[in-house]
Amino acid sequence: MPGASDANTEGSCEALCRTMVSQNGLQRETADISQSVLYTSLMGLLLITDNEEQLTLGSGRVGLRNIGNTCFLNSIVQCLSHTHGLRDYSLCKLYKQEKFSKEDAKLMEAFSQVLSGLWDGNEGDTVTNPRQLYILFKGAVPGFSDYSQQDAQEFLRFLLDKLHTEINRRPYSRRAGKEPEQINSGFRISEEGAAMWKKHLERDDSRIVDLFSGQLRSSLHCSLCSHHSNTFDVFCDLSLPIPKRRSAGEVRLKDCLDLFSQEEKLDKENSPMCERCNRHTECTKQLSIQRFPQVIVIHLNRFTMSRWSISKSTVYVSFPLTNLDLGPYGSVNCGPVLYDLYAICNHTGTVNMGHYTACCLDENGWCLYNDSSVTPVSESQLQTNQAYVLFYRRSNSTSTSTVKK
Ligand SMILES: [Zn+2]
Repeated sequence: MPGASDANTEGSCEALCRTMVSQNGLQRETADISQSVLYTSLMGLLLITDNEEQLTLGSGRVGLRNIGNTCFLNSIVQCLSHTHGLRDYSLCKLYKQEKFSKEDAKLMEAFSQVLSGLWDGNEGDTVTNPRQLYILFKGAVPGFSDYSQQDAQEFLRFLLDKLHTEINRRPYSRRAGKEPEQINSGFRISEEGAAMWKKHLERDDSRIVDLFSGQLRSSLHCSLCSHHSNTFDVFCDLSLPIPKRRSAGEVRLKDCLDLFSQEEKLDKENSPMCERCNRHTECTKQLSIQRFPQVIVIHLNRFTMSRWSISKSTVYVSFPLTNLDLGPYGSVNCGPVLYDLYAICNHTGTVNMGHYTACCLDENGWCLYNDSSVTPVSESQLQTNQAYVLFYRRSNSTSTSTVKK
C-alpha cells in the first residue's frame, strides 16, 4: 500500500474500529455468535487505545491496478471487499487475535493490505496495487497461473480456501481426506445435519466458514426397496446449471435453482450402493440446502467443458436484487429465507478473449469496478448476460427463522 507505514496502519485500525462501531456498521448484519465475537474483539481494541484520532472509512470506491491479466483477481477482490463481515475482520486484523496456527497468515496479511488500500479514508489514492497478494497467491496455488484464461470462480474458491487455512481456529485437528459424510440413520434429518455440521466445525472453523459456508443435503431414494438416505456436504458456493432457453421466455435465477434442485434419476451404473439392498440399484437423488450461509455465492455455470473445447453460454439470466427467497430450496417447512444482492462478478467476451469486471453496492449505490476505473451505475444496468458470480447476503428479517425437518 503506498504511503502508509505499519505504525500508521495500526493506529488507523483502532480508529477505524471505533468508526465502525459508531456508524452502526456492526448492526447491519445478523447478530449471531460471530458478530458478537467481532464486537467483543472490537471493544477490546477500543479499550486499549487512548488515541483520539478519528479515521473515516473511505468510500471504498478505489480501483485495482491490472498487473497483467489479473482482472479475474481484481473483480473477485472487489466483491469480497464489499462483504462487510470479511472487510471489517480484515481491516481490524482480527485474525491476529483468532489465529492459532503456527503458520504466518501471509496471504491474509496481503489481502488485508489490499483492503486497507481500498477503504482507507485518508489516502487520496484512486487505485491500489494488488501485486503482493497476487504473488503470494501464485506461490500458494502453483499451477493456477498456468491457465491461459483464469477463471474468477476458481480463483474465489482457491482464495477462500487458502485464507481459511491460514486463519482456521482449529489448525491442529487433522484435516482428514474425504470421509464418508454419513452417520447412523435413525436420526431425524435435522439432527443428522446438525451432527455433521458440528463435525465439520471441529476441523474447520474460521471467519470464512462463519460467512460463506453452508450445508447441502443430498437425499437418495432407492426405487427397489424405497430406502431413504441422506448425505451432507459443506459448500461455499452454489454452482448452478443454466437451463436451455425456452423459445421466447427469459431464464430466471429461479429456473437455474429449480434445475439444480430437481429430482434426478440415477441408473444402476451411476447410483451409490443402497444400504438396504446392499447393491447398486436405480434410485432418485435430490439436493436441498440444509444450512443457509450468511453470504451465498451463486455461480452461474456459463462454461461447459466438452471433450475438445470449452463453450460459453451467453443466455441472459434475470435475478432479483432484493428478497431472493431460497426457502423453497431448503428443508421442508423452513419458511422464507431472504437474501439481498450486493456484488456481481461479470465475464464479458469469449472463452479465449474475456474480461472480468465487478458491480458492487455501497451506502451510496452501485459502482462498476473495471480494474483501475470505478464508475457509478444504476440498478437497471446490473442485469446483463455477463453476470457470472452473484454475491447475496442474508437479510435481517429472516435471521431468526430456524431450519426444521
Ligand atoms: Zn434399496
